[in-house]
Amino acid sequence: NGENFITDNPRIENLKESLLLKDIEVIEGDSKVTLKDIVSGIFVLILVGSLMYFLNKNSKQAQKEMLKMANIENDNHKTNLKFHDVAGNEEAKESLKELVGFLKNPEKFERYGARIPRGVLLYGPPGTGKTLLAKALAGEANVAFKAISGSDFVQVYAGLGASRVRNLFKNARKEGKCVIFIDEIDALGKKRRGIGTSSDESDRTLNALLTEMSGFAKNEGIIVVAATNRIDTLDDALLRPGRFDRQIEIGLPDVNARKKILEYHSKNKPIDKNVDLGRLAYETVYFSGAKLENLLNESAMIAAKNNNITITLDHIDKAFYQVIAGEEKKDRSAISIKEKKITAYHESGHGLVT
Ligand code: ADP
Repeated sequence: NGENFITDNPRIENLKESLLLKDIEVIEGDSKVTLKDIVSGIFVLILVGSLMYFLNKNSKQAQKEMLKMANIENDNHKTNLKFHDVAGNEEAKESLKELVGFLKNPEKFERYGARIPRGVLLYGPPGTGKTLLAKALAGEANVAFKAISGSDFVQVYAGLGASRVRNLFKNARKEGKCVIFIDEIDALGKKRRGIGTSSDESDRTLNALLTEMSGFAKNEGIIVVAATNRIDTLDDALLRPGRFDRQIEIGLPDVNARKKILEYHSKNKPIDKNVDLGRLAYETVYFSGAKLENLLNESAMIAAKNNNITITLDHIDKAFYQVIAGEEKKDRSAISIKEKKITAYHESGHGLVT
């Protein structure tokens, strides 16, 4: 409001006048735009644009991570799997059966002042039934099963791995009795290198896990089962009392176990009566449970493709070559398929003792 504005500055007085008279003059300066201006303008635009894109992408990524984390936290499900669904692995099953009682009735163990089992480490080659065993433990005790992979904790955002660990346990506690299954624990439980190194972030995540596991002050009915095929790389602190102090080796199945696994996975398949699963068990030395299941699946695929009524020895033979050939591609130094099969057959004369 120019009228209430009193000044003796003549320039302001002039300005006041022109404002009141709405007589504003546009003073045109030197409006020549040089090529340099255009180029730097474009440059600034690109810079700002890409910065915004980057920030947006990053926040989207972070949002995704958060969402994934929330999903993991809420990923509680009951499983119907039982120990009889795991063929072989008798010792491991015996050891885990002891924990079923604890999961069902932790208060009882508390009353007797019994030592609280917290963590079980299952170690051995992939595909040997470690996940299956952890699920069966939850199934037998009729408690929730929370599964997560160690690699899910390996984060690019500082501190997110550790907060994920805390969240996982917080939610498990809310849930009450449950089995937490951490697959590939080696991804987060590698030997620590110390603060100030590039593995600072993973150290923090591992420390969070160690703290959480020591934090089970009373019997809460939570058991953490972890799996790895690289026990040698694990940080010693993970294996100390109160953490994963129960360690069970899950080896490749021996000939008897292979037969049981083959029988289990052929239950729902029309296997020809001429197929001798006992003999097949002898021929499949070094096959894991997963590989045996794969062999039967491939055989069923071949039989189905050929519209055969049953799965014959011929189908199994073809599948055998396919399954081994798949491996062969991965392992260039491997001996030829045929040689491998003959070796397997001879070696298995006594069965493979693991
Ligand atoms: P791991 O966790 O040791 O890598 P999994 O438990 O995930 O192995 O096994 C993969 C699959 O292989 C299982 O879902 C199952 O179909 C089959 N399998 C492995 N071991 C066994 C077993 N002992 N008995 C029955 N099936 C098995």
